[in-house]
Amino acid sequence: MKPAAFDYFRPASLAEALALLATYKDDCKILAGGQSLVPAMNFRLARPAVLIDINDLSELDDLRADADGLRIGALTRHAAFHRPVVDGPLGTLLAKVVGHIAHYPIRQRGTFAGSLAHADPASEWCLVATALDAVVVAKSARGDRTIAACDFFHGTFTTDLSADELLAEVRLPPLAPCWRTGFYEFSRRAGDFALGMALAALNIDAGVIKDARLGIGGISNRAIRLRKLEDRLVGQRVSPELIDAIARDAWAAVDPLGDIHASPEYRRDLAATAVKRALTEAAA
Ligand code: FAD
Repeated sequence: MKPAAFDYFRPASLAEALALLATYKDDCKILAGGQSLVPAMNFRLARPAVLIDINDLSELDDLRADADGLRIGALTRHAAFHRPVVDGPLGTLLAKVVGHIAHYPIRQRGTFAGSLAHADPASEWCLVATALDAVVVAKSARGDRTIAACDFFHGTFTTDLSADELLAEVRLPPLAPCWRTGFYEFSRRAGDFALGMALAALNIDAGVIKDARLGIGGISNRAIRLRKLEDRLVGQRVSPELIDAIARDAWAAVDPLGDIHASPEYRRDLAATAVKRALTEAAA
């Protein structure tokens, strides 16, 4: 299949890109890595009249760590995370997670921000953003706004972004060295989208959990933060029995989707298994 006809713009500045977005709104799409948009256009699932290619906007090609954490510009490719981009548990976690995203060539083009804007429920970066309190910076000709990840994802392929907004940057808060992390994903073949996954981060002091982050992805229509289970973890001594109990609660807490890849019952069991394995890794 080939895409339906479209007009193509390759702006040379962010201001020009935002002006094009303000002009074409729902008739246009931003082209970042093209690894989700181009297949969708080829299958004619997406038929934008106008493409705005942001790949020349060097101001969006920014990846740096500062006291507030990691700033991930819109042109940061998945492949940038193959090696830790920051010292400590956050860099190590991102380097582990990225290996589960698609295949090597796709990771060279696809972008972190594009994954969030696309909002596939099985996106690893959407889970990372949700579980680790990311903040998204949206820019438009009307101005800038920041959106917490927990408010950003509305459901499958839908976000809080307006038609004239560009996702310019994702900010991930730092994880101090005392945090330990775990990530578990199950997919049928390497490179396939996840059927289910979980991410855990635990701040453990003398065997007692001081703080916790726990999320699941690929199970329902967006990545979910299991805040009630985080509250149950805090103040508890780490043990296999505690992890088993939290996994059972995750089984009861999720609202799983069924599709051609897996039934809701399968995904419910997978959520519990993924939570158990992610927590076990974080607690090790
Ligand atoms: P594009 O394809 O360019 O855009 C995707 C959507 O986001 C479009 O609607 C576009 O308009 C919008 N968009 C992009 N950037 C912005 C922005 N800065 N502001 C506003 N809107 C924007 N992904 C996973 O997470 N896990 C996987 O396991 C996985 N497996 C894959 C396997 C295959 C075979 C393929 C082809 C893709 C797979 N992907 C997977 C998708 C891949 O990670 C994409 O790179 C990612 O989903 C989108 O990033 P992109 O930069 O390619 O965005």
